[in-house]
Amino acid sequence: MTATAHIIPNRIDIIGEELAIAWNDGQESFFNLESLRRVCPCAVCQGEADVLGSVERPERTFQANSFQLHSLHSVGGYALQPLWQDGHSTGLFSFSYLRQLDSRPGESVAAAQQ
Ligand SMILES: [Zn+2]
Repeated sequence: MTATAHIIPNRIDIIGEELAIAWNDGQESFFNLESLRRVCPCAVCQGEADVLGSVERPERTFQANSFQLHSLHSVGGYALQPLWQDGHSTGLFSFSYLRQLDSRPGESVAAAQQ
């Protein structure tokens, strides 16, 4: 998706339990923090493909503080790295990934409950 390569956040706010991003193309996105954690793209959460390409999804356990943000860092101008209260911080949410999450109304992050 090269079309989104130049899209970056103008503003990032944490509002209650939501991450609000105002993008430089005028769009605004709101992400529930719990939903974001559940779609954390890191290998620990999503599993790593083996040599045959199959991915075994690891078991994940969450605590109440797994869905609370400790801090949020911007990485290399292309991604956000949340540090969660339970110490998890290996997930890099690239801007294009966030935009993808926001543009899937049928299976938005709010619906990703499993
Ligand atoms: Zn993760």
